[in-house]
Amino acid sequence: MESTMMDYPLTVPHILERAGRYFPKVEIVSRLPDKSMHRTTYREFYRRSRALAETLRKAGLNQGDRVATLMWNHYVHLEAYFGIPAAGGVLHTLNLRLHPNDLEYIVNNAEDRFLIIDDVLLPVLEGFRSRVNFERIFVVNHSGAPLAAGLESYADLIAGATGEFAYPKIDEREAAGMCYTSGTTGRPRGVVYSHRSTVLHSYNCVLASTMRVSASDVILPVVPMFHANAWGVPYAAAIMGAGLVFPGPYLDGESVLELFEREQVTFSAGVPTVWLAVLQLLEQEASRWRLAPGLRLAVGGSAAPESLIRAFDRFGITVLHAWGMTETSPVATIASLKPHLERLPEDQRYAYRAKQGYAAPFVDLRVVGDDGKEVAPDGKSMGEIQVRGPYITAGYFKMEPTAEKFTADGWLRTGDVATIDEEGYIKITDRTKDLIKSGGEWISSVDLENAIMGHPAVAEAAVIAIPDPKWDERPLAVIVLKPGAQATPQDIETHLAGKFAKWWLPDQYVFTDSIPRTSTGKFLKTALRDQYGKRGPGAAAATKVA
Ligand code: ADP
Repeated sequence: MESTMMDYPLTVPHILERAGRYFPKVEIVSRLPDKSMHRTTYREFYRRSRALAETLRKAGLNQGDRVATLMWNHYVHLEAYFGIPAAGGVLHTLNLRLHPNDLEYIVNNAEDRFLIIDDVLLPVLEGFRSRVNFERIFVVNHSGAPLAAGLESYADLIAGATGEFAYPKIDEREAAGMCYTSGTTGRPRGVVYSHRSTVLHSYNCVLASTMRVSASDVILPVVPMFHANAWGVPYAAAIMGAGLVFPGPYLDGESVLELFEREQVTFSAGVPTVWLAVLQLLEQEASRWRLAPGLRLAVGGSAAPESLIRAFDRFGITVLHAWGMTETSPVATIASLKPHLERLPEDQRYAYRAKQGYAAPFVDLRVVGDDGKEVAPDGKSMGEIQVRGPYITAGYFKMEPTAEKFTADGWLRTGDVATIDEEGYIKITDRTKDLIKSGGEWISSVDLENAIMGHPAVAEAAVIAIPDPKWDERPLAVIVLKPGAQATPQDIETHLAGKFAKWWLPDQYVFTDSIPRTSTGKFLKTALRDQYGKRGPGAAAATKVA
């Protein structure tokens, strides 16, 4: 029997209309490249996003055509998030930290027709421009300097709008956006989001048991808008009418804290490396900033150490630990505590909050062992996380789905290794490629890192596998100490002893000034493996006595 319900498509223009109609006075604040502050409202955002949609159509954009962006987080990028899909186009966010060869590959693979770019990022474009075919390049000209030949002004483009614009008819299954995975192994792969997946994902993000976004929030996405849709934050904010604060290119702890205070931010999102920097500043002099009460931080992209969650609590700041990937739109699980877990003793509560949480609505999740069967939900047995759902990718752009990435029964193989407990909370122990195999047993680099970062002298830590003739692989810890702090390898080892089986403890501890980052701000373990991976066991003595 058919229902009597309307067949109403779930599309991005609906979110835009809603924001313009119900939240016109809500503010959108951006820090621009010259550090000046730009203030606007949803009213203006609504007008300009529609102007972008109208003028893109007039410029010849057809349904399904890709428009690339190369921008920091600010109000124009927000307009692109809405205006491009509203024109029936596909927003393709380019990661400005990628190598020019990767950008060239990605732009050609996606067949991007137009580009919207920050003037300060023109040097990035120059690195690959001659090898791609943008038909038109629109520059957000923050500085006002004259534009070189072949470049057009974004402001002039949208100034050509009449306001007489009707959205094209959009099927909810049509593409709205695309984003490439970072390609740490092999070529970057294109994930294409539909209007429907974007709406359902954004809707999931606002729920009380997930990120709890509401009209009372002022949200600062530190996570770049080129990284998996800034975790859905721009769309989630517009659905609920939350204020937005964009940090522009300034993502250091000092700048973030300053904006938190100035705009009384209530919710933010970013990778752990950002929060480790913020935390260090707070620990040095918390009274410098008067932050909004009840500030929440969504932390994901890599594991949030329990020590980080505990430390932020001491400043009245709540960490919400989430897990996902570009392929999952990205928010797939979140570690909000079920009410009966809130009543557990403190240590157990923190242990739960340090897990990656349970699946968001409509995300099916299973953890599958080497034997192809789901592992026991005992919080100990490890297996690969596999997911499916309406905002999980079923393939990659212009690529045949492979058995390495998808199971025969249609689930995405995430390559993340985890345990799952009887409450359904997963705990990531590693990415498949980062696991350390010692004497035939797995050692979790994530668990070791998080414990090391719990040492009061440690700012950052990453643990990698190094080859070992006897055990196959052994762990090596790379550690950055807090400014002025001191610790010896023995101190770290004493700190770890008792928390782990003896054979888990790193063979070597290397102290360094900084740990290299990936293009999305995570610790770059491939670089560490290149740098330290060739060390044999003989190096141990030298580094242990630092
Ligand atoms: P990349 O890291 O390759 O740039 P993504 O941003 O899509 O690409 O990263 C997805 C991966 O990040 C996941 O597969 C997982 O390994 C890791 N990740 C994301 N969130 C968490 C988390 N909360 N804890 C541990 N690992 C995480």
